[in-house]
Amino acid sequence: MSQLDRAELARRGADAAARLGRSGVELVALTFVDNSGISRVKAVPVARLADAAAWGVGASNSFDFFLCTDTIAPGPYSLGPVGDLRLHPDLDALTELAAQPGWAWAPALRYDQEGDPHPQDSRALAAAAVSRLAARGWSARMAFEIEWVVADSDGVPVPGPAYGFSRLTGNSAYLRELVSALDSQHVDVEQVHPEYAAGQFELTVAAADPVRAADVAVLTRETIRAVGAHHGLRASFTPKFAPGGVGNGGHVHLSLWEGARNLCSGGDGEFGLTGTAETFAAGIFTRLPALLAIGAPSVVSYLRLEPHHWAGAFTAWGLENREAPLRLVRGPAGRRATAANLEVKCFDLTANPYLVVAGLLFAGLAGLDAGARLPPPIDVDPGSLSAGAAAAAGVRRLPRSLEESVAAFEADDALKTAFGAELATTLMDVRRGELAELGGLSGEELCAVMRWLH
Ligand code: GLU
Ligand code: MG
Repeated sequence: MSQLDRAELARRGADAAARLGRSGVELVALTFVDNSGISRVKAVPVARLADAAAWGVGASNSFDFFLCTDTIAPGPYSLGPVGDLRLHPDLDALTELAAQPGWAWAPALRYDQEGDPHPQDSRALAAAAVSRLAARGWSARMAFEIEWVVADSDGVPVPGPAYGFSRLTGNSAYLRELVSALDSQHVDVEQVHPEYAAGQFELTVAAADPVRAADVAVLTRETIRAVGAHHGLRASFTPKFAPGGVGNGGHVHLSLWEGARNLCSGGDGEFGLTGTAETFAAGIFTRLPALLAIGAPSVVSYLRLEPHHWAGAFTAWGLENREAPLRLVRGPAGRRATAANLEVKCFDLTANPYLVVAGLLFAGLAGLDAGARLPPPIDVDPGSLSAGAAAAAGVRRLPRSLEESVAAFEADDALKTAFGAELATTLMDVRRGELAELGGLSGEELCAVMRWLH
């Protein structure tokens, strides 16, 4: 029996279509993020929205096997060119696109033709992780930070010093249109600023329910691209725009809540962590090598994960330590009860944000099951420790290549079980496919291939 209430979905879809039609929307983009981190899309005229909500829009099963280069990888779960899935727009997340007049967007959930959820649907997996947490009496709030390089139509980064007011001034019309578009799309922007690397900017948003946070990550990135096009500017979200420079991160902020109480603050543990938040954080910390196969999932991700680049390349955690892949952000005194959160810094924007949500929540839950504990925090650049001091503190390099993080994921039974055999296997097949295709390229060649893909 299908889990879809098709009559109700058709009714709600018709209501939404009427509302969108009154605001001049003609087309609705339905997206899902694939296993290589690319957002893929099908669009329907607004008059078809009710039908799409009830019955879905056809999409090949082969999308699960797409590499970021659009090669289709083989795998034991692949049906090749055979088979069909249905993309159902999530009407609760339907959004008019301010920078693409006449368009609206909805993230889709993928079902099979019988109306059952597709086992490789990453948004459904993220929702399942949220439910698992809720069954234990907790909730999480999350936010993805977006860093990107703004370049002219020739691909040359816009000028101006790191954090420089002049870089902001030179792009103030672009930034204003961007924030205003996001605001009208109900994305709660907290801050925008020029970042360290050439042409780089960063935008941060308020924490939200984890699935919503991943939706916002998808929507924000596409809005950045669309607004850029109005100004003759291109946006690059690649982890490394050029070899040697500072990279683009996709840091994730996460706080754990019990009702209205933030468990990252007000406890008797290190820096005010509660015991629950510490074991949850330790679940993430001990699994960082495996989680990198989800959060830093590209060959190019490992050009970014270098010491001394604020990317978090070592097994270290600390208070406000920007060289630690897991950073406790406590916030100012007087505000910690709401502000305190954990930041995972070693991830980048080639990751599928729904898989990142699922991976972090399942890892945290595994930490709770195991009663995991954090090691002592590190309050220096871990890359500056002598070999002896690093060994004594248990500080090692995180995986230095995608091969290493794939091996760590494949050795992690808790994560593989949580993701399910079909998705866990296919994800690693996709990683291996990208390694085979891109692993032999020079840094320059790799950056060139990846620069405008995500
Ligand atoms: N751009 C750095 C990265 O690759 C992060 C800088 C920061 O801490 O905001 O993650
Ligand atoms: Mg930053």
